[in-house]
Amino acid sequence: MTVTEIEAKSLLRKQKRVDSWFVSTAGMNLYRGCEHDCTYCDGRAEKYQVEGEFGKDVEVKINAIELLQKELGMERPLEPVKEGFIIMGGGVGDSYQPVDEKYQLARKTLEHIEKIGRPVHVLTKSTLVERDLDILKRINDDSRAIVSMSFSTVDDTIADVFEPGVPSPSERLETLRKFKDEGIACGIFLLPCIPLVSDSQERIEESLKVTQEFDYVVFGGMTLKPGRQHDHFLQVLENYDPELVSRYSGIYSGDKYGNQNLEYYKELHGKFFEAVKKYPQPIRIPSRLFADILGENDLVTVMLEHMDFAAKLKGQRSPYGYGARSITKLDQPLSSVEDLKTLKGVGPFTEKIINSILETGTSEQYEKLMEF
Ligand code: SF4
Repeated sequence: MTVTEIEAKSLLRKQKRVDSWFVSTAGMNLYRGCEHDCTYCDGRAEKYQVEGEFGKDVEVKINAIELLQKELGMERPLEPVKEGFIIMGGGVGDSYQPVDEKYQLARKTLEHIEKIGRPVHVLTKSTLVERDLDILKRINDDSRAIVSMSFSTVDDTIADVFEPGVPSPSERLETLRKFKDEGIACGIFLLPCIPLVSDSQERIEESLKVTQEFDYVVFGGMTLKPGRQHDHFLQVLENYDPELVSRYSGIYSGDKYGNQNLEYYKELHGKFFEAVKKYPQPIRIPSRLFADILGENDLVTVMLEHMDFAAKLKGQRSPYGYGARSITKLDQPLSSVEDLKTLKGVGPFTEKIINSILETGTSEQYEKLMEF
C-alpha cells in the first residue's frame, strides 16, 4: 500500500443539473484510489486516470480543506442555499477508506459543511463513518444529514470475494443502525448488483428483506467498461466460478460505457420489482428528506425523474422523464412560466403534477406512484 500526498487544483465537482439518485449538485473525491479495492470498481477504468495500482496506491488531496473553503465559501448565507445535499463519497475513492483514520479529511470536510450550514449526504462502504456520528448528528439537527451505505449483496461470504477491503455487510448494517438510532435518515444503495452472483430473485429478496428497516433502497446494475475494470473483474470472477465468465459476454454490449444489454437490464429490474412488492419500501430517497432543500426547478426535476423510474418499473408508460429533461434546460423559475404545456414533454396531466409540487411540495400522483 502506497500513500502519496498531492496538491489538487480543485476539489468540488459541480454538476449543471441536480442528480436525482443522490439529490445533489456537488460532490467531491478527497482521495484518488481506494483501499477498499472492490473488484467491480468503476474507478479502475482508464477514463478516470487514477495513477498507480488501483486498490494498493492512494493519493491524498492534502490541500482538500483549503480548496473546499475557497470553493464552498466560509460564510453562512442569510438565506439557505437550495442546491440539495453536498455528496461526500463515491467516484474514485471512498472518503472513509482506512487512510482517513490518519488524515481525517472526511471529518474536516464535515466541520466545514457544518460551519456553512449545508445539508450533506454521506455515501460510503466503511464503518469508519461512525467516528463522525457526533458531527453528522449536529448537521442533521441544523440543516440535515443522511447516510447511505452501498452493497452489492448482504451476504458476507460473497462480499468477502468481491469487496475484499471493506467491512462485511453485517458490520455495515450495524453501523447504519447506530445512525438510525440517533435520528439520522439512512438508506442502502443496492448497487452494483453483480450479474450471475448477486442478481438471482432469491438474492435480491434476501437484500430487500434487510433493507426494509431503513429509509430507502436505491437499486442498480453493474457497469463494466472495457479495459482495466473489465479485465480485473473477469480475473476475480474466473477464480470465483470459471463457468460464469463466458456468460458475461451475453450480458454486456461491449460499449465504452460498460452498459448491460437492454434484455438483461429489463430482466434484472423485473426481479427487483417482484422483490419490492414482497418487501415494500421507498425505492428512491423520499421527498420528505429533500423537498425543503431544493429550489423549485430542481425539486420538480427530481420528483419527475423518480416518477419516471417508478412508472417504468411498474411497466407503465412514462411521460415524466421527457418533462424533467426540458425543465433542466429552463433558465427561469418554473413558477414564472405562464403555460407549462409549452415545455416539451409536459401535457395537461404532468402540468397538474408540477403545479401541485410547486404549491405543496408533493403531488397525489407522486405519492401513489412511489408507493410499493
Ligand atoms: S468503496 Fe467505492 S470507490 Fe472504493 S473501491 Fe469500492 S466501489 Fe470503488
